[in-house]
Amino acid sequence: MNQVSAPADRSVSEIRKEVRAFVSREMSREQAREWDATESSPNQIVPRLAQLGLTGLTVPREYGGTGRNIPGALAVIEELSKRSLAAAVPYLMCACYAGVNILECGNEEQKGYFLPKVPRGEVLFSFGLTEPESGSDLAGISTVARRNGERIVVSGRKQFINGPNMANYIYTLVRSGSPDQRYKNLSLLLIPTDEKGVRIERVQSIGMRGGAALCNVIFDEVQLSARNIVGGEQMWDKGWQMLVGPGLDIEKLEVAAMALGIAEAALEDAWSYSEQRVQFGRSISAFQSTRHLLVDVRTRIFACRLMLECAAELAQNRQPCGVESSMAKLFICEEAKSAVLQCQSVLGAYGCIAGSDMERYVRDIQILPLVGGSSAIQRNNIAKQLRLRQ
Ligand SMILES: Cc1cc2nc3c(=O)[nH]c(=O)nc-3n(C[C@H](O)[C@H](O)[C@H](O)COP(=O)(O)OP(=O)(O)OC[C@H]3O[C@@H](n4cnc5c(N)ncnc54)[C@H](O)[C@@H]3O)c2cc1C
Repeated sequence: MNQVSAPADRSVSEIRKEVRAFVSREMSREQAREWDATESSPNQIVPRLAQLGLTGLTVPREYGGTGRNIPGALAVIEELSKRSLAAAVPYLMCACYAGVNILECGNEEQKGYFLPKVPRGEVLFSFGLTEPESGSDLAGISTVARRNGERIVVSGRKQFINGPNMANYIYTLVRSGSPDQRYKNLSLLLIPTDEKGVRIERVQSIGMRGGAALCNVIFDEVQLSARNIVGGEQMWDKGWQMLVGPGLDIEKLEVAAMALGIAEAALEDAWSYSEQRVQFGRSISAFQSTRHLLVDVRTRIFACRLMLECAAELAQNRQPCGVESSMAKLFICEEAKSAVLQCQSVLGAYGCIAGSDMERYVRDIQILPLVGGSSAIQRNNIAKQLRLRQ
């Protein structure tokens, strides 16, 4: 069992410093390229982060964590993402998909069972929402859960799910009654990945590549008990309200933190490359167009950081932040994508070489405005929540 010895009251900057030291000690650039190429992750990454007290940042002390610290967990995600999503995604699967979701939506039995495992790095969840016919329109899903007395039988197909090959459970949205009332009759289930009838097939993606692979998941008459209903029996058919609750706000910020980390990495590389690369007898950083580009990117990244910190603080204090978290997700992911492309241009042809760090940043950043609710969906959410007349 993992022993967690980290103090409970570290500041976000202390947490950030610890993760940076871990990354520079144990996650080299060469390894990051290798993890991307081979779809693998740093060896024992989650238990190692657990030993530093980092997975417990989403878990209250009474469950063995270091206290719910959303800004701290987001700083971990950002710092890991600067080097490799192959480390950031497994961290998310433990601290956030398991930790945040069970804390927000689990019943006492589930909290007592799962939450102490999170600080020890002993449980990983995947998010099983998307289906072949339902991506943005999640209320249209057709994976069915039928009741047979105490038993629940699940049949259907989830698509483009990160990490079920590594996870212990899939946090799965299912249709638990008639599809007529779209947002009712949905439930969330915890489906063990080793349960009979669960089949996992890997899919190749261009980015977010690591040990937590992109997969399709087929549920073929999977038998569960009522204990697998997230929130317990009384939350049967109430999956939607849990899905769009505070956990979703934090999830949007997790994606934004990944995007910010990648943009920062691209900027650091472009900045130092521009000082070394000599053309026309001068460093390209001496040319005004390069200087302005880099300064503009840095300024936009600074704005992204402030936005993330502000939204994270709201989430930490349990203040309503549906609008702010959607704005942060939208703005940071789109700005980060454009920042990475601009940084790529500073490297000229060197930014287009397969297997280079910049090429990986470009592939990874393409995905982040899409996952966790696309930019268009965030715009729709913001307009709807602010009751913009239609
Ligand atoms: C690498 C990767 C990892 C992923 N990980 C997971 C995971 O772990 N779990 C999971 O459940 N899913 C995951 N997904 C799936 C992801 O969440 C979906 O791709 C996303 O929700 C969009 O769904 P879609 O691809 O079906 O696109 P669609 O919903 O078909 O949308 C296609 C386009 O139409 C736009 N659009 C759709 N509806 C509207 C609207 N109402 N107004 C305006 N524009 C609209 C979208 O913005 C998008 O540009 C992952 C995807 C990738 C690529």
